[in-house]
Amino acid sequence: MMDANLRELYQEIILDHSRHPRHFGPLADANHVAEGFNPLCGDRVKVYLKVDEAGRIAEANFEGRGCAISVASASLMSELLKGRTVEQAEHLMGGCLKLVKGEAVDDLAGADRETLEVMAGVSAFPMRVKCATLAWHAMKSAL
Ligand code: ZN
Repeated sequence: MMDANLRELYQEIILDHSRHPRHFGPLADANHVAEGFNPLCGDRVKVYLKVDEAGRIAEANFEGRGCAISVASASLMSELLKGRTVEQAEHLMGGCLKLVKGEAVDDLAGADRETLEVMAGVSAFPMRVKCATLAWHAMKSAL
């Protein structure tokens, strides 16, 4: 169980990201773009990635609208993706999916886990899992 102080801190981080999303807006020189839609909640997200010749994500942006969880998750994702290889990005996605479903995650680097752990509270609300994973699924389709 997550303690109350930690839960409160995570809620604050989610609110902050949903009100002030990072890397928000189209990316002019993106070479991988995909959209996602969550009909259960009405969340929409469009993910823009610029992957360089070495196969690394040089830039990651998104735009869209939806509930606080969907926007915060996309914003957190955009912060995590920069500099990652496609394989690393998919690995992060796997970790995020497990966390929001309340499954054990033991294969994420400490800092990545800390960032993604913010979304772990979603596991108590199965209806919101799609909100929390929408941007990640769009990222995967884009790649
Ligand atoms: Zn939502």
